[in-house]
Formats: sequence, structure tokens, C-alpha cells
Amino acid sequence: MRTSLDIIPLNEWLDSIDEPLIISGPCSAESPVQLLSTAKALSKIPNVKIFRAGIWKPRTRPDSFEGVGVVGLQWLQTVKQKTNLRIAVEVANPRHIEECLKYEVDILWIGARTVVSPFSIQEISNVLRGVDIPVMVKNPINPDIKLWLGALERINKSGIKKLVAIHRGFNAFDSAPYRNLPMWEIPIELKRLFPNLSIIVDPSHICGNREYLAEISQKAFDLNMDGLMIESHIDPDKALTDANQQITPLELKQLISNLIIRKEKGSVEFQSKLEELRTKIDDLDNELIKVLAKRMNIVKEIGEYKSDNNITILQLKRWVEIISSRISKGVKQKLNKEFLLKLLQLVHKESIQIQTDIMNQAKSEKRK
Ligand code: PEP
Ligand code: MN
Repeated sequence: MRTSLDIIPLNEWLDSIDEPLIISGPCSAESPVQLLSTAKALSKIPNVKIFRAGIWKPRTRPDSFEGVGVVGLQWLQTVKQKTNLRIAVEVANPRHIEECLKYEVDILWIGARTVVSPFSIQEISNVLRGVDIPVMVKNPINPDIKLWLGALERINKSGIKKLVAIHRGFNAFDSAPYRNLPMWEIPIELKRLFPNLSIIVDPSHICGNREYLAEISQKAFDLNMDGLMIESHIDPDKALTDANQQITPLELKQLISNLIIRKEKGSVEFQSKLEELRTKIDDLDNELIKVLAKRMNIVKEIGEYKSDNNITILQLKRWVEIISSRISKGVKQKLNKEFLLKLLQLVHKESIQIQTDIMNQAKSEKRK
């Protein structure tokens, strides 16, 4: 079931956006001096309109620094008074929201560990009813798009229309070289489902290491995402949380100036050349579909033949032979080896499914 989101676009509530939009600030508020000096340096970068800082930190292991708590909200009020920045804070429960509202926090965000729990999201949504505040929703730590869009829907249903998604990558056993897998196909699918929803990319939590921030930031704009959330700290190596991925405001400025910002559409001439090439792609895709359908019909025929003769579906020797011959042919045509393997595995999986259905059908007919 698909519902749509009732959203006020980002550029309507965030009056002036200097493209690209950057949200920045430390992973955690640590002291009034650390916050204010980071914020003052950031406020000199025109793209930075929103200052982020965590004051309640959801830590995976106990005995880590868990944030300064409510006192950090007073420090953030000072930041707000002394700079032109809006303040964004992570909230994980109704009490956090009440405190943030008391201290006039401008924007709330919900962290990846909270979005995995529909109970928590519902509790948060309930206290947001009747409140006019922008909310940014990170993706859940596991690659489950339904949890992400479910959270967006619950919050939207409680009346929050200034709603934004944040892509911060997905937890995996092996996510090297990153801390979290970007799995760009998931935010792209979210964009397809909700074209009016802005998606901010959080390269800091994807990368886990400042070394990769520039490449992930560029990729975000290459994929037409709407902005970045990047952690910054006046003295990153001394940060109490996420030290490896934080950069100084000066490094952030440099990173922004190296970005190539792409637009969605080009000149009339460009668009017409693009259309011409796309027509070729359309024709080729039609051919691909016809060939696949023909192939699957033969798979069916073989399935019936195997079923009549009690022969196994999986024929290991044949499968190994298919992989090696097709990959060597494809590589000669300059196709990527991993891509070919994935494609063949997908086709093989479908073929096995078709033949399994045939055998199950034959079995149930025999029983009758
Ligand atoms: C954070 O933004 O500091 C944070 C805790 O992020 P995430 O919820 O993405 O892990
Ligand atoms: Mn962090």
C-alpha cells in the first residue's frame, strides 16, 4: 500500500538556500566553548544554514560518552543568539521533544537507531501532534525501506509537513571501506515513491572516516540529492564521539568549494540529444525483455522435461559452465565481471523458481 506525503518543500520553509544546502556541526555538544567556536566558524560559510549537535547520544556500547543532556540546550540557545544559524537536535523520545521545544530548538531529527522502532516513532509522532516544527528522519540502521517510509508516514500523519529524509547508510557485517553501506538504490527508491520529499545525505556516518567524505558528498549531488549533513568540530581529533569522521569548519569550506553541483536538466540542445539516445535505450530494453521471455519459455520446457523424468533442477556442472562461458564472453565485450555474475545469478534464481513451481504443480496433480 502506498500513501503520499503531505509536505511543505524545504525551500519554502528554509527561506534562503545557498546551493548546495549544508547542515553542519559537531557529532556531540561537549562544552559551551566547543559549540560556539565551531558555530561561529561555520556561520561564515554561506551554505551552512543549520547547526547540528547531539546532546543525547545513542551509543552502541555502555560506558561511552552519552551526551551532555539538557544543559547542552542552553549552550545551543547561545549559539542561536550569537549566529544566524538554526539549531537542529536529535530526539529519541517524548521527553527529549518537550525539552527541545522549551529551549526553542528549530529543527528536530530522529536518529537511525530510533527509526527501527515503530513504537518509539509512534510515541514521538503523538507528542508532535499540533506542533509546527521541521523534522528530519534518518534511515534505519538496517536496509529496510519500509521502516524508513513508515516513520515518515507516521510523523506526517501527526501533522508535521516540514519533513525531510536523511540518508546515513546502512549497517552491514562488512561495509569496508565505509562505516555504513551507502546502498544508493534505497534513497533512490524513496525518491521514486515520494518525489516531493527532500533527501539530505549524511556522508559523515556513511564514511566513518574523513578520508572518504569528499567522494560520498560528490556522489550525493551526482544523484540529485538535496543537501548534505556533515559533522564538524573545532578540534576533530579531540572530539568525544565520532572523532575519525569529523572535520574542521575550514576543511568543510574546502570540501564544499571542490564540489561540482549538477542540475537535473540541460539546454534544449542537450535535452534533444538525450532523448535521441534514450530512444535507443528504449529499443534495446524492449529487445532484452523479449529475449528474457523467450529464455524463460525454454526454461519452462526443460522444467517439464526434468519433472517427467525425475531429474534435479540444479545441474551444477551446467551452471558452472554457464557462469564461466558467459562471463568470459561478456568480459570480451567490456562488461564488468561482477555485474555479469550478479545478472546471471538473478536469471538462474528465476529459472530455478520457474522449474520448482512446475515440479510442485506436477506433485500436487499426482496426489489428486
Ligand atoms: C548522529 O547524527 O550523530 C548520529 C547518532 O547518527 P545516526 O543516527 O545516523 O547513527
Ligand atoms: Mn555522529
